[in-house]
Amino acid sequence: MITSPVFAGKNYAVLGLARSGLATVATLAASGATITAWDSRADARQKVSDRARIADPAEIDLAGFDGVVVSPGVPLNRHPIVGRAAAAGVPIMGDIELFAQARASLPPHKVVGITGTNGKSTTTALTTHIIRNAGRPVRMGGNIGLPVLGQNALGAGGVYVLELSSYQIDLTHSLDCDVAALLNLSPDHLDRYSGFAAYIASKERLFAMQSPGHARIVAVDGPETTRLADRLAGVRRVRAAETGDQSAWPALQGPHNAQNIATALAIADALGIARASSEAALASFVGLPHRMELVGEAGGVLFVNDSKATNTASAAPALAAWPPAPHPRIHWIVGGLAKEEGLGECGDWIGHVACAYTIGEAGAMFADALAGRVAVEQCEMMGTAVERAIRKAKSGDVVLLAPACASFDQFKDYEARGDSFRALAQSLAGAKAAIGRRS
Ligand code: ADP
Repeated sequence: MITSPVFAGKNYAVLGLARSGLATVATLAASGATITAWDSRADARQKVSDRARIADPAEIDLAGFDGVVVSPGVPLNRHPIVGRAAAAGVPIMGDIELFAQARASLPPHKVVGITGTNGKSTTTALTTHIIRNAGRPVRMGGNIGLPVLGQNALGAGGVYVLELSSYQIDLTHSLDCDVAALLNLSPDHLDRYSGFAAYIASKERLFAMQSPGHARIVAVDGPETTRLADRLAGVRRVRAAETGDQSAWPALQGPHNAQNIATALAIADALGIARASSEAALASFVGLPHRMELVGEAGGVLFVNDSKATNTASAAPALAAWPPAPHPRIHWIVGGLAKEEGLGECGDWIGHVACAYTIGEAGAMFADALAGRVAVEQCEMMGTAVERAIRKAKSGDVVLLAPACASFDQFKDYEARGDSFRALAQSLAGAKAAIGRRS
């Protein structure tokens, strides 16, 4: 765990006790701070009751507090804590800001910050793998599900690679990344922002927090990231097209990964890692679960879990990955809780789809949007969709879960959705887990 004398004797309120909140309490307690903590779930509160006073920061007098540390899950655009903290003159922050404040007391190190609408986790994991392969001490943290404060501090010369969502950036005020990178921008999470422009401005703050001269990398494959790069000084621009042949890198297929690779290589360059070492690491990268994860194969049919494709912009590259050869080969399981109306970028790749199987609340919306363009079976449930896809798919085809939607209508989260797909593929089709992949 990371601890720091900067927190000693200070007084913090912590709101939200999931993974990052629990790590925050542990760090602050071990650093000698006084803590008041709250979560709407009693079992979460129970976990910190030995180290914190239990009270809801939105209900108590905040005078005298040094900060309110909130979970990125708390919607800042509508939660009462924002007004309460402002009235008391207490700053609102997240765990990444605490890490930023602790940095001065850590051994000399570098921080890489990676953001974008899609591909953050993949690029964060890939960058970490490249740095490790180069023999440098490295830790991965942030939105990837590993709270950075929960990691052991690195010795001198180490690199912290942080995946940062826009929510986390909103809660961060002083993180000066040695290398900051932006992958792409498409409308997402608009329930938390006044519009697309506000969401873009949130991502852009990652660069605004940097000292002059620190490296900044922007993938300029889209119009919004290109405009953002034009507004900033000293940007290293990368493009997916510069990646070239990806055939030697099994876990990094598809045009979206070309963008992730180009960005990760530029980050490694900025850290002074030799290109030959970085490129060698691409071949040994194993990928992450739920992102184009090959969960098995049965009778020549591949089963691919891209449950993390929670919007149409992230599902589109998965559809692009299997061109008709010679017939359309993709059996596309799509639906859930829609984030946008219509097919979005997926509409460009319908020619790759043999049949669509709709699930969840947005099933009817997708069925309407696809009608007349491709065969559609309205399935409602994941089990029905997998069963019907198995019945229709022929050798050489791909059964692809790329839902283009959030999962919360039917599942706890995208991981539970992907786990359900994997279990169904393996039990109904007898699909065997692919060798060399994590599942
Ligand atoms: P994030 O952490 O930003 O959500 P992930 O790496 O977990 O990103 O990938 C999320 C989804 O987006 C997956 O379906 C993946 O296949 C897709 N994806 C990955 N990289 C990109 C990219 N550069 N552009 C568009 N989609 C991407």
